Amino acid sequence: MSDYDEDNIFAKILRGEAPCVKIYEDADTLAFMDVMPQAEGHVLVIPKAEACDMMDLNGAMAQKLIVNVQKIARAVKSALGCPGVMLAQLNGSAAGQTVFHTHFHIIPRHDGVDLGFHAKEMEAPEALEKIAEKIRPLISETTA
Ligand code: 5GP
Repeated sequence: MSDYDEDNIFAKILRGEAPCVKIYEDADTLAFMDVMPQAEGHVLVIPKAEACDMMDLNGAMAQKLIVNVQKIARAVKSALGCPGVMLAQLNGSAAGQTVFHTHFHIIPRHDGVDLGFHAKEMEAPEALEKIAEKIRPLISETTA
């Protein structure tokens, strides 16, 4: 993509230049804990392909991404024991996107619990790792 910024934070995570608490990786996809979670268990799933938003992703990559989002969302739901899971995906700053490497949010939801603020409060890596440890072992078991 011509306007893809190779220095965006997710590109740096993909290159191993910035840290993340990883929960899943395959040839085309990476999933990791959101460092400013809107709920406990907030996970991000990104394609490895350079794409600012979903419109930049080719069909084959979009399919692989959504299949992995479903697989990881099942594991998150099971690990967190939440009755609801919100999948969110923002395209463009007008839509609220702040990191311009396309991604899905997987956010556990509980009845009567409001959604936390978007990209506001940083969580400690140790706390994220504890949650990731619950999610990781459930990923392959929950594959369709
Ligand atoms: P967007 O606003 O683009 O839909 O979402 C970007 C998400 O990336 C936000 O939820 C924000 O908390 C998260 N985020 C921003 N910087 C980092 C980072 O360095 N590491 C991780 N793991 N998440 C990040």
